Amino acid sequence: HVYTNDEVRELIKKEDVRFLRLMFTDLFGTMKSVDLPISQLDKLLANKVMFDGSSIDGFVRIEESDMYLYPDMGTWLISPWGAEHGKVAQVICSVHLTNGEPFMGDPRNNLKRVLSEMKDAGFTAFNIGPEPEFFLFETDENGEPTLKVNDEENYFDLEAADKGEDCRRDIVLALEKLGFDVEAAHHEVAPGQHEVDFKYSDALEAADNIQIFKLVVKTIAKKYGFHATFMPKPLSGINGSGMHMNMSVFDQDGNTFYDENGKLQLSETAYKFLAGVMKHARAVTAICDPTVNSYKRLVPGYEAPVYVAWSAHNRSPMVRVPSDRGMGTRLELRSVDPSANPYLAIAAILAAGLDGLKNDLKPADSVDENIYTMTEEERVSREILTLPDTLHNALKSLATDEVVKAALGDHLFYNFMEAKTMEYDAYRQSVSRWEQDRYMSTY
Ligand code: GLN
Ligand code: MG
Ligand code: MG
Ligand code: MG
Repeated sequence: HVYTNDEVRELIKKEDVRFLRLMFTDLFGTMKSVDLPISQLDKLLANKVMFDGSSIDGFVRIEESDMYLYPDMGTWLISPWGAEHGKVAQVICSVHLTNGEPFMGDPRNNLKRVLSEMKDAGFTAFNIGPEPEFFLFETDENGEPTLKVNDEENYFDLEAADKGEDCRRDIVLALEKLGFDVEAAHHEVAPGQHEVDFKYSDALEAADNIQIFKLVVKTIAKKYGFHATFMPKPLSGINGSGMHMNMSVFDQDGNTFYDENGKLQLSETAYKFLAGVMKHARAVTAICDPTVNSYKRLVPGYEAPVYVAWSAHNRSPMVRVPSDRGMGTRLELRSVDPSANPYLAIAAILAAGLDGLKNDLKPADSVDENIYTMTEEERVSREILTLPDTLHNALKSLATDEVVKAALGDHLFYNFMEAKTMEYDAYRQSVSRWEQDRYMSTY
């Protein structure tokens, strides 16, 4: 619901709200917020709240640092926490320049731009249903995260109630209070690992939801003495955390991916979109798996994809076609991990898919056998590419992919490349425990 100014005033009065929390997201996907006392409401509604953009990662330099926060009137929520100091109303904002134009270094503004290109192509929505996974780690006496998980449980295990399970239930309740339609919440394969799935929505709202979801998970976990992490691979030797993206493109007649008479009942549109996602997979991966650690998840043996392939029958490839048809017809991109900035990730995936539509791309044949047991020759003969194996190689692919670069726009692309190249360099120069163990006495 897009609130009018009068409705917001009424809501705030009725709920006796004392604070306004304005939220937006930086380049790395970190949610930033600024709290204002309620006395500043008029200023906010007039788009006159200013902040210093030079203190935000990937935004701007000092000399051009004045920026404005415009509230997105469709995102007002009363926060379920902190009421002991007065209720807080939160709203997601877009970042604007002093001349009123949307700032293109704001990942959310950029997603809106890519979505408007989709609308120009005749579609109405890019629906995204995310499946974020995370770990709950015990904290020590200083509240710092340890590497200890509190359970020994497994996928879908039903155990005598423990603290992790109570915490997950509390997360679901908090999400529901915020209006989330939670579809499932379960223990994942690794000990201490959980997943919460919520209903799909149009891209912008889905990305907003992911941001709020992470905040809710971290906040509730803290109450239970846990540290919740969306780090992709916190422990070696067990599964990492993904954030599978279920996606479909709608037009005014409904889901364009469904065709009763199509092969596998998928439409031409679905196949072209899929082909675009496959074609740009390596560059898209740089955005969807943006940390050094992301590439420790994309290895064989842990239910994460390693190859650029798709299948309707097999769960291991990068893109899976879940069995639902009709309105629920969708592609599931399984390479994405929860360290991705959701606004950038969704923009990159959408642009890749739209490129497939624009250029009538055809996907390679589906791969329904186990790719992991194929020889390299077999893979090469079937044109099965691998996903990048390091952040470094992913960035190299991104640097040469004009479609995915355009999906970020100049400002975001330049800042992303610069920051991530530095991140990789810092990693490359550090000496790890593994190397010391392996080489210290051998050489
Ligand atoms: N945790 C796995 C991953 O890294 C996914 C497991 C699953 O949902 N089947 O993607
Ligand atoms: Mg799942
Ligand atoms: Mg899962
Ligand atoms: Mg899944």
